[in-house]
Amino acid sequence: MRPTILNPLFADITVLNGVGPKIAALISRVAGSRVVDLLLTPPSGLIDRSFRSTIADAPLGRILTLRVTVDRHDPPPKGRRLPYKVICSDHTGFITLVFFHARQDYLKKVLPEGETRLVSGKIEDFNGARQMAHPDYIADPEKPDDMPDFEPVYPLTSGLTSAVMRKATAQSVTRAPDLEEWQEPNWLKARNWSSWKAATETLHAPKSDADLSLLAPARQRLAYDELLANQLALMLIRQARVKSKGRAIKGDGILRARARKALPFSLTGAQQSALQEIFADMESGERMVRLLQGDVGSGKTIVAFLAMLAAVETGAQATLMAPTGILAQQHLESLSPLASTAGVRLDVLSGRDKGAVRSEKLQRLKNGETNILIGTHALFQESIEFQDLALVVIDEQHRFGVRQRMALTQKGPKPDLLVMTATPIPRTLSLTAYGDMDHSRITEKPPGRKPVDTRTVPASRIHDVIAGLKRATAQNEQAYWVCPLVEESDVLDLTAAEERFETLKSAIGSDKVGLVHGRMTGPEKDAVMERFHSGELSILIATTVIEVGVNAPNATIIIIEHAERFGLAQLHQLRGRVGRSDKKSSCILLYKPPLGETAKARLNVLRDTEDGFLIAEEDLRLRGAGDVLGAAQSGFPKFRLADIAVHGELLAAARDDAKLILSRDGQLSSARGKALRALLYLFSRDDAVKMLSAG
Ligand code: ADP
Ligand code: MG
Repeated sequence: MRPTILNPLFADITVLNGVGPKIAALISRVAGSRVVDLLLTPPSGLIDRSFRSTIADAPLGRILTLRVTVDRHDPPPKGRRLPYKVICSDHTGFITLVFFHARQDYLKKVLPEGETRLVSGKIEDFNGARQMAHPDYIADPEKPDDMPDFEPVYPLTSGLTSAVMRKATAQSVTRAPDLEEWQEPNWLKARNWSSWKAATETLHAPKSDADLSLLAPARQRLAYDELLANQLALMLIRQARVKSKGRAIKGDGILRARARKALPFSLTGAQQSALQEIFADMESGERMVRLLQGDVGSGKTIVAFLAMLAAVETGAQATLMAPTGILAQQHLESLSPLASTAGVRLDVLSGRDKGAVRSEKLQRLKNGETNILIGTHALFQESIEFQDLALVVIDEQHRFGVRQRMALTQKGPKPDLLVMTATPIPRTLSLTAYGDMDHSRITEKPPGRKPVDTRTVPASRIHDVIAGLKRATAQNEQAYWVCPLVEESDVLDLTAAEERFETLKSAIGSDKVGLVHGRMTGPEKDAVMERFHSGELSILIATTVIEVGVNAPNATIIIIEHAERFGLAQLHQLRGRVGRSDKKSSCILLYKPPLGETAKARLNVLRDTEDGFLIAEEDLRLRGAGDVLGAAQSGFPKFRLADIAVHGELLAAARDDAKLILSRDGQLSSARGKALRALLYLFSRDDAVKMLSAG
């Protein structure tokens, strides 16, 4: 149960003054619907009205504050739609305050003639006279608190004003309770960090750009809290999993030896060391939960297959889950020869298997006739019965969050789990998302791969590109054409793709070009991809569906339109669709000029290297963590205060800290442990606290 001391923060934002249901809906969009969401949303900017001036010296167009005497009100003549004017002065000159649609009684009250007032806003020149239209603030100099010198600015959305957001957030700050310190006192002292509550106050009261910086001490403290909550939560989940004993899978190696002998190549060093790590996990009595990262084409499939054989050697079963039916089919095709050489029975199950075929397959699985099952992720949700499942391999699963992973591994008799991803993830980022797993990386590609010739070409030269494509397809080459990704609008996506479909059909031949897009059904997509796979089609136009990894080894060209709109990791992944054979491949990145500095740098990184890990690190550096994996990629934690592109060092410290904490107090039952539970609740890691015994 969440400690009651946190209740004021977990109340709905409608408890705040000035926040009714309408405003609440708007705030929910930019921050969240609970008070804590406002508290943990840092200001994105700052208005500084501390600059004081006299009327004569005041620079135009900059926010400043004047101390003036109100000389007289000058209302517009009745019936005329002119502004209401108030003439003010100081010892240097006059200024006119201008109000449109003014209410006289109100203005008379805030600007009484003969009194002195502070007015704050921007000054403009109107036919040689100085004026200020609608001052941001009008305050009595006797009550300076009515006008803050500095105002934080928050993310807004249409209909939500800065003032409303600021007032709501200020209330969240006052509602924040004094919490028991969860950080080590020495660590706080070494860093010169304040208490959590003081840090939240400082966060929301910036006085300079330095205060807004990710490196400001208060921001760092809170970022560290967030990272510690993240790491602690992942390790608690891991701890609970390790305690739920797995089984020791220690085969005799005979099947693996047979398969390896039959391979037409020898394993790379990186593949071998990944296998050693996997076998060691499987042989131990603890459950394996391991992430295998490796670029497209780095040879993960054979690694997975050998791991599955290790399970089969003990008489148990293994399963490989692919993201799509077509990929499951491809795995079956590529693994079948090896399987029969090794003497193991492979089967594939897809959502399209119906009736007798399906029930026979399920029967063979249940009675253990099938040693290895290849299927799709969707299948795993259903109640498929294995005779004795010892290893689950999930392929290409970069869209898999920690929570789903938990759900998966909490099911049934605790098989070992190997998750494979072809999205190289920067090390720091992968610790925040996959910190509950062990990591293996394949950093080396099989020998003999030809580099993909990558070029950046401005969109104005698209006709040359199409002409080149025509020549290439006449030589029986195959190409992917990837259409612009338009965020939040698959409708626009589709129009662009369909237009391109028409252009290419008329340029290259209507029976040679196929189109796949997100609105098609699975079987429709599969049918088009199959025609491409078989060589019937020369060109496959796609939105981004090919990203998930269709394998057409003959395809040697990929053209990506509006490459500047894609994430680097995504571009890298798309490019990985070609260069899979010994033929020379090329990748054309069409972009729309002019490119900004960052966009140019990003495309150049891609042009200059094919090392996915390097590309991922560069992407993180150039764009920051928020964008690295693109909006579409769920499963990565969204930090509010931490930015791991900047706070990488804090993340490493939080990781060590979390390990140390759990090694001393695995159930978080000490005084500090209890404080840390509150921290977990504060960052909504209730799921992780559930792993603990009560107390
Ligand atoms: P990934 O799944 O990592 O994208 P795959 O497992 O599909 O990559 O491997 C890509 C291709 O490389 C396959 O044709 C595979 O047979 C081949 N391959 C794998 N390992 C090696 C190796 N050590 N040497 C040569 N070719 C390899
Ligand atoms: Mg693969």
